[in-house]
Amino acid sequence: MKTQILVLVQDMMLEAERNNDSVRANILLDVHQAILKKFENESVPVPSEEQEEPTMPKCSCGGNFEFNRYCGADVCPACDNHKGFARCFCGWAESGGDGRAELEEMGETIEPEDY
Ligand SMILES: [Zn+2]
Ligand SMILES: [Zn+2]
Repeated sequence: MKTQILVLVQDMMLEAERNNDSVRANILLDVHQAILKKFENESVPVPSEEQEEPTMPKCSCGGNFEFNRYCGADVCPACDNHKGFARCFCGWAESGGDGRAELEEMGETIEPEDY
């Protein structure tokens, strides 16, 4: 489909050139480039970050983060590190302290159901 349009425009371009119709040829060249640009935009290579999305980034300890439903965070099973978190209501804290108590100090309301 895409290439068909390009071939068609290319044919019209060549025909216009053959007829020494430079105005038409220039317009068609613009059209051709616009189509090419559009296709390029459509098939923009996915940035590497997005391509690697299925693979979790590794923890600094070398462990693989796994999404923890309970914490709502990516948690390293090896060292309990929470990716992008400083503390968590599961009790973990980056500082090594009590994450839950730290959150409570910060005014986070922790529902009893979360126990
Ligand atoms: Zn947690
Ligand atoms: Zn880790």
